[in-house]
Amino acid sequence: MLTLGGGEPTLRSDLEEIIALSVGRGFRVRIVTNAVTLDRERAKSLRSSGLKLAQVSIDGAREATHDRVRGKGNWRRMMEGIAALKSARIFTVLSCVLLPEINMEEAPLLLDLARELKVAGVKFARPVKQGQAKLNGLQVKGEYWETFCRILDHAKATRYKRLLMFFDPLAHNLALAERRRTSGIWGLTTDLCQCNNTELIEVNGGTGDVYYCRVRVKLGNIWRDDLSELWHHHPLLTAIRRKTPEGSCQGCGAWNGCRGGCPAVVQGKTGEILLQDEDCSEVQKQPALVAFSTNGHANSRVLVGSEKAREVGRNVRDRLYSITLR
Ligand code: SF4
Ligand code: SF4
Repeated sequence: MLTLGGGEPTLRSDLEEIIALSVGRGFRVRIVTNAVTLDRERAKSLRSSGLKLAQVSIDGAREATHDRVRGKGNWRRMMEGIAALKSARIFTVLSCVLLPEINMEEAPLLLDLARELKVAGVKFARPVKQGQAKLNGLQVKGEYWETFCRILDHAKATRYKRLLMFFDPLAHNLALAERRRTSGIWGLTTDLCQCNNTELIEVNGGTGDVYYCRVRVKLGNIWRDDLSELWHHHPLLTAIRRKTPEGSCQGCGAWNGCRGGCPAVVQGKTGEILLQDEDCSEVQKQPALVAFSTNGHANSRVLVGSEKAREVGRNVRDRLYSITLR
């Protein structure tokens, strides 16, 4: 999967060319967009170049909230963009970063909006304090677990039947700790983050610098270094793969997927990478955060049978969604 982000990828006049080239090389391509520049003609042209998936960034379930973050008029233009993506039959998901004091209260209402707009679903993530978020002094400390639970309760109460995704390692624990809340929610995905596999490589298109997901440590440069070599042997990735559970993470049923939380969120807050994630409700019961040692075995890479089956299941589900939600 190749995700083209930004800035804003739709500002590039050669985006279609990039998509066609990538699809020709065997990638499934997705764009992350604010959708504000998209009209029907552009969306159709993106679809013709091979684009099938779009993730639209949204900062609230209400116009006033979204425009408070992105500026007046952005909600209306985003709505037009979403309509254009749908008219071009591009599988569209809303993506919301949960911002304390801004959109956490109304986050569950995004499920109603997804239904109203007839898009494929909603994805939620926690903010990482870097870049603009850091410069603007964005508040990132919040009641995330409680918000996840309210979102789940709303999904149940409203019989929500679209994708509901949490791009957050702590969500691995939802299915264990909140069984009553999670059971029976059809499109629920709580295992998007698989930090032990370190699969998410980010490349800055301008400089060629390579990062691991949202962690701000430069691993190398794509013009100079062998990407495969970096991915297999970079000390940071090796350390992340070899984290061993400490404190409340010891014996936690979610460890294999969660791996002690999100290193990018932790880095944004503390400057450290191999430290427990303070947003976890179990970690909050400890007197202090504990650092991970990295002498464990890397438990990643080779897919075991159950994971393969799960992957096949996911692909089938994605296809069904793309057919049924048009
Ligand atoms: S206790 Fe550790 S492994 Fe378990 S959910 Fe919390 S951060 Fe993740
Ligand atoms: S760094 Fe790991 S846990 Fe954090 S968002 Fe990326 S994959 Fe998920």
